[in-house]
Amino acid sequence: MIKIRQLSKVFHNKTVLDQINLDIREGEVVSIIGPSGAGKSTLLRCLNLLEVPSSGEISVNAKQVEYKTNSRGRLTFLSQMKLTWLRSEVSMVFQQFNLWPNKTVLQNVIEGPCTVKKVPRQEAEAKAKKLLAKVGLLEKIHEYPANLSGGQQQRVAIARALAMEPKVILFDEPTSALDPELVHEVLDIMVKLAGEGMTMVVVTHEMNFARNVSDRVLFMEDGKITKSGKPEEVFCTTNPRMNQFLRNIN
Ligand code: ATP
Ligand code: MG
Repeated sequence: MIKIRQLSKVFHNKTVLDQINLDIREGEVVSIIGPSGAGKSTLLRCLNLLEVPSSGEISVNAKQVEYKTNSRGRLTFLSQMKLTWLRSEVSMVFQQFNLWPNKTVLQNVIEGPCTVKKVPRQEAEAKAKKLLAKVGLLEKIHEYPANLSGGQQQRVAIARALAMEPKVILFDEPTSALDPELVHEVLDIMVKLAGEGMTMVVVTHEMNFARNVSDRVLFMEDGKITKSGKPEEVFCTTNPRMNQFLRNIN
């Protein structure tokens, strides 16, 4: 599904991703854990070109992700065209929800399908309503994000990601900005999606999710994946930095 080879990202002479190799299979739930600054967000952002990699190869569903840049470091026209395809295959859910504040819940969910995928509005609305029912927010469709709790906003963001019918959803600390009592309502939806066979890559500090829901856990430090395996393997490690990380987080 996703194949990453020798992926590197350098910011101002600092190597933030250091020749990452990673394969993610269809239906797999992969959690990425690791200390602040390890490069977890940068890795996710490179996967849908929110950051342009410095070198390396990424393919999604056997199609190469193009990221040629012009002399000003911007993606070339051709790469821009392919970006539309990429963003509909690879959806992202952010820590800060990133909903459009001046659009209602329903408008937030149909925006991508209508503008990017050119789905007719009626069809997009019908689909959006199904997705909003799935995340338990059908009664909020005409509300604006500011009138929703953080947990509700994040559930809208998940419905919005699903509306693009992506092959994979990337989650970057989706529960970190939530009040503790709202975390479970977002995790419950993620567990449901995992159970339905959605391919998910989740950067998280929720060790119970990483341990109990993921098929595989990656530990990142200094731009590298230094440990990768089934949760029971990764969490029973003798790696001192990993153990220190786990002690600090619990
Ligand atoms: P956290 O757990 O705090 O979210 P992270 O593992 O997600 O950390 P990244 O956000 O990927 O870490 O950042 C990795 C490194 O890259 C950090 O040193 C950060 O300062 C640097 N970095 C990230 N984005 C940029 C940017 N746009 N410009 C310059 N440096 C950046
Ligand atoms: Mg991050």
